[in-house]
Amino acid sequence: MSTLLPDEAILTAAIDEYRYLHAHPELSSREYETAAYIERRLDALGIENFRCGGTGVVGLLRNGDGPTIAFRADTDGLPIAEDTGLEYASEATGILPDGSTAPVMHGCGHDTHIASLLATAEVLLAHPEAWSGTIVLLFQPGEETAWGAKEMVADGLWDRAPRPEVVLAQHVMPLPGQAVALRPGRMATLADSWRITVHGRQAHGSQPEKSIDPVVLASWIVVRLQTIVSRELDPRTPAVVTVGTFHAGLKENIIPASAELSINVRTPDEEVRAHVLGSIRRIISAEAAAAGAPEPTIAELNSFPRLVNDPELTPRVMSAFAEQSGTDAVLTDELGMGSEDAGWFGDAIGVPTVFWGFGAFDSALFADGASPAGNHSPHFAPDPREAMTTGITAALTAIGAFLAVTPADEAA
Ligand code: ZN
Ligand code: ZN
Repeated sequence: MSTLLPDEAILTAAIDEYRYLHAHPELSSREYETAAYIERRLDALGIENFRCGGTGVVGLLRNGDGPTIAFRADTDGLPIAEDTGLEYASEATGILPDGSTAPVMHGCGHDTHIASLLATAEVLLAHPEAWSGTIVLLFQPGEETAWGAKEMVADGLWDRAPRPEVVLAQHVMPLPGQAVALRPGRMATLADSWRITVHGRQAHGSQPEKSIDPVVLASWIVVRLQTIVSRELDPRTPAVVTVGTFHAGLKENIIPASAELSINVRTPDEEVRAHVLGSIRRIISAEAAAAGAPEPTIAELNSFPRLVNDPELTPRVMSAFAEQSGTDAVLTDELGMGSEDAGWFGDAIGVPTVFWGFGAFDSALFADGASPAGNHSPHFAPDPREAMTTGITAALTAIGAFLAVTPADEAA
């Protein structure tokens, strides 16, 4: 069975669409224009669609009897000042949750996900004879804040869309065009972010005896947190505890009343997660007690669920990729400590997930061990043609592994 491929007209239109989307990014859960754009495109293609989870859009692409599958494309940008120098670089700004204005960039490449899924739908619509079944197109907001998938599910997604037998999702990565990266099992880490307010007692800088110094206390916490991964976990267990921000005080001769830390935790599974988060709570509380300070306040900012590729269905997709692009194009070692909420769509209803990364860069950029700027960099600049060719081809190939009908002239 041969995979459907985009013709030059669809590919060229997808490249233009990608450039347009790249120039018009929006922040997480504020994808108002992006959602409206996707709705207009689905309407124009005649694909039934509805809003779900605020700025989420669901399309139902039906073509007769057959299995139902779902395909996720996330839609949000990031608060990054783009520095690619590209003709279609973003100059957009957006409003952060704290009310401040920030530059916005599609710095994680979610624009490639939207454009390739729309083009994939167009190819499928143009070749109804090559497949049958239903594809639930999930245009998901708020991936970067771990909010969108949960919000869509909580908004009744699976009451309103048919239940799929698998949820597929893909993510652009700093890899050469044609490459796809996946394997059965864990594809990303669980991730938790907290804001911790350490309370002390304010005093004049010359009168430390009247203070409980939150800067010293918070510093002990930062140092002690380093021992969780280094001293408490089995050295073979991958985990990260990062203190990303530390803010306290306004003037050098005032001991402040409080200090604020934000921390980011990456863990491979629920068991390690529970251990690490428990240790963080223990250390924060015990260091405050040691300083004679009140109990610190913990605010949970976000929590990324697990992302695990199904052990039976993932090899099926890997074989389809290998058949389409060659075994060399299928990479199985590209696993970092990133996080993704795509797994929640399936986990919420006990349905398996298959997730892969795809390449979008000229292979010359990887010569001599070099690599282009990665996701979340202000210099992240996928090649539009490589991104669209690989994104659309990979999507069609994986969909074909579940819904394809062997064309009559290829049947044995
Ligand atoms: Zn990202
Ligand atoms: Zn992303």
